[in-house]
Amino acid sequence: MRMRLGSFFALAAVLAGVAAGSAATVSARETAATGAVATGYGGAAATVDPAATETAIEILRNGGNAIDAAVAANATLGVTEPYVAGIGGGGFMVIYLARSHKVVTIDGRETAPETFPQDAFIDPATGKPIPFNPQRITSGMAIGVPGTLATWATAEKRYGSMPLSRLLQPAIAVARQGFVVDKTYHDQTDQNVARLRIFTSSRALYLDEDQAPAIGTTVRNPQLADTYELIAKKGPGALYRGPIGAALVQTVQHPPVAPDANPGFTVRPGLMTTRDLSHYKAPRRAPTHVTYRGLDVYGMGPPSSGGSTVGESLNILAGFDLSTPDRALALHRYLEATRLAYADRNRYIGDPKFVQVPLKGLLSTGFAAERRCLIGPTAATSPVRAGDPTPPYGGCSAGSAAVARREGTSTNHLTVVDRKGNVVSYTSTIEQIAGSAIAVPGYGFLLNNELTDFDPAPPADGTPDPNLPAGGKRPRSSMSPTIVLRHDKPLLAVGSPGGATIITTVLQILLNRFDFAMSLPDAMAAPRASQRNAPKTDAEPGFIAHYGTELQSRFGQSFNSTAEIGAATGIELLGEGRLEAVAEPVRRGGGTAAVVCALRC
Ligand code: GLU
Repeated sequence: MRMRLGSFFALAAVLAGVAAGSAATVSARETAATGAVATGYGGAAATVDPAATETAIEILRNGGNAIDAAVAANATLGVTEPYVAGIGGGGFMVIYLARSHKVVTIDGRETAPETFPQDAFIDPATGKPIPFNPQRITSGMAIGVPGTLATWATAEKRYGSMPLSRLLQPAIAVARQGFVVDKTYHDQTDQNVARLRIFTSSRALYLDEDQAPAIGTTVRNPQLADTYELIAKKGPGALYRGPIGAALVQTVQHPPVAPDANPGFTVRPGLMTTRDLSHYKAPRRAPTHVTYRGLDVYGMGPPSSGGSTVGESLNILAGFDLSTPDRALALHRYLEATRLAYADRNRYIGDPKFVQVPLKGLLSTGFAAERRCLIGPTAATSPVRAGDPTPPYGGCSAGSAAVARREGTSTNHLTVVDRKGNVVSYTSTIEQIAGSAIAVPGYGFLLNNELTDFDPAPPADGTPDPNLPAGGKRPRSSMSPTIVLRHDKPLLAVGSPGGATIITTVLQILLNRFDFAMSLPDAMAAPRASQRNAPKTDAEPGFIAHYGTELQSRFGQSFNSTAEIGAATGIELLGEGRLEAVAEPVRRGGGTAAVVCALRC
């Protein structure tokens, strides 16, 4: 989200002021983060929002590491980007630790309450899934036990260098001081006015006489500042075992529907209890890993399908030379690779606590060869069948059917590198833009609707579905925070929002950068296409204008025009300490990149 510069400099001054113990005497103007690309030294950050990027840079400048900066920036996003981030949601953090040369991940996925039934999203009156929008997404039933604060706590405890209480200060300052409404914030509010006005809490927090606040007005959130202060004082237990959690559970069980609201449907209460909250954990998990063109690509494992699906697609594509001048042929193969990888994703990926995920097979080069051999001179007809990832491998693998499902388009990604070479790639979300649209009264944050990422019912053809609802289960995600190493050193980190298109966005950026030799800014700006085992490929108008006709006439590919796909951020380590931070330049209002020092420092 972009902010008017004048106000932004005022905010930068606030943030500089809260940088306790600051030895640096850089003026606010010098620290201001305003562009989509920044190159320099001493640490870098790229997020969807200038205040969050500035928060990360202030933390880095004051001796924090990349993990500290990522947590602090994410807390600020909870204030300025409340519709795509916040402690009412969840996410996945992938970290490269410079000291141990290891990649680790934290799974902060929201979790279904213990008593969540498989038919949670089936209407008992019809036996059919409850309509998705607005009924299913705007309900207490959709709210998973949030994992964002537990992710921050795990990250800080294991890998951070500053206490959480310190890292929340910039966000508290922004929440009290306020921020200026830009077009993105305005539009996201506007799109959700009907849902937000149903709930007394959300109406009071986000609407101005039942409308989206005008662009240019200042929005403050003292409730959230108080909530963060309570967490700073008492720790994450204030939410998972304390008063914030009690209010949260009360909200889930009794959504605060305004007496004069007329939503036209019954807002279903949820089943979350304080016990569910107190049992929540954000576990550390092994990353996924594949090699591609001599690079090591690390991602997020189940319950996210990000790492496995990006990884399987790369393994399939590794068998082709994509760097020849025949770009259309390379793009045909890209579309076919993800068509196949999505069939496997839908058939096999779910919460590993509940389903046996054949991750090793899915990421094996033998399985990739079986899938690659299905890629012919023309587009396959979707839905294509999932393969069988169990060895031995040989021939072409096409097994059981797989059905594509819908997923949201919200979320944000932030990327941070510090001067020691620690790297954080962190995607966080509350699922839909504005999540469930239900804010916790008096506490200033929205609750997610992440449980709508479960498939509401088994496929009609009886195919096993690893992503059905169950008590204590985490719904499958597409979030794909990624870190790439070359010769055991970090080279690039990237991620994006965009629901199920996240996977193809991250993959396309990697192909643009490493096969098509684009710079990272060009790789991120280039027009996108997303094939997810559907008859037609979703593609941005720029992609269709450039490649549509040739891909159609030579390979039989067909397209649906989609205004925007994703809004990535990333950082490339250019060597000798030089960093290039890159945010999305245009999509979803653009993001902001910044470095600690423009010149060597
Ligand atoms: N809920 C989605 C997922 O976990 C992310 C939300 C979005 O980007 O729309 O994959």
